Amino acid sequence: MPQKLKRACNQPGCPALTHDRYCPLHKKQKQQRYQQERGTAASRGYTYQWQKYRLRFLKKNPLCVHCENKGVLTPSEHVDHIIAVTGPNDPLFWKESNHQALCHSCHSRKTVLEDGGFGR
Ligand SMILES: [Zn+2]
Ligand SMILES: [Zn+2]
Repeated sequence: MPQKLKRACNQPGCPALTHDRYCPLHKKQKQQRYQQERGTAASRGYTYQWQKYRLRFLKKNPLCVHCENKGVLTPSEHVDHIIAVTGPNDPLFWKESNHQALCHSCHSRKTVLEDGGFGR
């Protein structure tokens, strides 16, 4: 069996010869880029998934828990993360035990507190 001829890497300007389309270095770079693109597609998809989840959660938890604690019945509008999360990749993001239903005013009050509010 004659050895297959090596070809130049498909990356313009790269002098490396390879049996593949890309030399090992550029192969790795392409794979990383592919994974990054998949990552952003997933985070775009999360918005839709989250909207669906939110509606289901609010149906199950129709009252604001903060207001309910004070004996006031207010319809919930937001799914709030009890422990603040950094984004959809955060392990706590989709944890139902980390979610609570809040009305608009309780949610914005909490957001103000978490952002440091007027102290900044
Ligand atoms: Zn290359
Ligand atoms: Zn409330």
